[in-house]
Amino acid sequence: MTSNDGLFERACHHIPGGVNSPVRAFGSVGGIPRFLERGAGAHVWDVDGKRYIDYVGSWGPLILGHAHPAVLEAVTRAARNGLSFGAPTAAEVELADLLCQRMPSMQQVRLVSSGTEATMSAIRLARGYTGRDKLVKFEGCYHGHADALLVKAGSGLLTFGNPSSAGVPAGAAADTLVLPYNDVDALQTLFAQQGDRIAAIIVEPIAGNMNLVQPSPAFVNALRTLSQAHGSLLIYDEVMTGFRVGPQGAQGLHGIQPDLTCLGKVVGGGMPLAAFGGRADVMAKLAPLGPVYQAGTLSGNPVAVAAGLATLNEIAAPGFFETLGRQTTALAQGLCDAANANGTVFSAQAVGGMFGIYFSPHPPTSYGEVMNSDRAAFNAFFHAMLEEGVYFAPSAFEAGFVSCQHSAEDLEATFAAARKVFAQIA
Ligand code: PLP
Repeated sequence: MTSNDGLFERACHHIPGGVNSPVRAFGSVGGIPRFLERGAGAHVWDVDGKRYIDYVGSWGPLILGHAHPAVLEAVTRAARNGLSFGAPTAAEVELADLLCQRMPSMQQVRLVSSGTEATMSAIRLARGYTGRDKLVKFEGCYHGHADALLVKAGSGLLTFGNPSSAGVPAGAAADTLVLPYNDVDALQTLFAQQGDRIAAIIVEPIAGNMNLVQPSPAFVNALRTLSQAHGSLLIYDEVMTGFRVGPQGAQGLHGIQPDLTCLGKVVGGGMPLAAFGGRADVMAKLAPLGPVYQAGTLSGNPVAVAAGLATLNEIAAPGFFETLGRQTTALAQGLCDAANANGTVFSAQAVGGMFGIYFSPHPPTSYGEVMNSDRAAFNAFFHAMLEEGVYFAPSAFEAGFVSCQHSAEDLEATFAAARKVFAQIA
């Protein structure tokens, strides 16, 4: 039973839903997920031997494409020396130095193993540093699956701690305040009312978990000025955008220095590695120096660090982000052209190596607008493109990713498939 459908059936026996992370199931588009066997460059192959042009890239990490030789070599070399020590290594010092050089807002950094750990730890640190409990997050932003962050917005502008997952005690979410993304007035009102109780704002500075949603310049400025004025910390969750939208992440594009930054995905080059860091006076509150506890058996794992270093080295090549940005913009434009030629209501945009496609006339600016896009049309598009050998994220609420291995031929093949599919699903 190695065929795709057979494997899925077997997977469901011992793995809930047949997947090890819910986003991998085709929950919102329907159907059976593809079991992937192999990746090379911009392509993946499923267990039935079908090839796809991959725009998921393991949900963001694979900016160099699959099985990049430099990463494979670094990982293999590191693994030969031992898989884990639970003691400091020279390579993790090198990575910490590099991260602090590349991200000017980071004076110190700590390595962890997942984005969830990074955000959870950064929030604990912000609370420990400020001595305050309240946390502001935005509707549609995802920051991993820690209890206090699995909170949904209800009706109205501001929602207090409303767990969005069973198993999250109301108390764990009670200090999380949820505001609409891009709503400067709501942010000002909240800070005027209770700014002195807010430990931190956590934000996806370019949102990628409600499809790709760009912040307005006014929103970005309000986040920085209001948090600063009220003694709250600003946490940029750049798990997705770090080293993806540009060499200094979204903060480089925005010209903003957050107090803390969370990194993940690209920083680990496809291995389990993430990081949080920022102002030295804040980071000094972390154990073993300070009273805020945080730890990890596999933190700074040498094999993952090797993958991260190799990836950061490759993306520092001159012109890397210019070329990646050009390719990603060309992808967005080409898909729009294919849709326009067919009269389909569609829009798309790109930032660095990240893109959004929408079955709506304009790129959305809030979660509500994403909800209003034509999700049935997306689902039909997704399945028909998959059939044509083009693998987009299986949800209208996810951003897409281009790697430096996506060639002009890959883009042309994608456009040819899109022209056919837009006509089919009209
Ligand atoms: N923060 C953001 C912005 C993310 O996109 C994600 C994952 O997609 C996370 C945090 C959680 O990272 P992880 O899945 O590595 O725990």
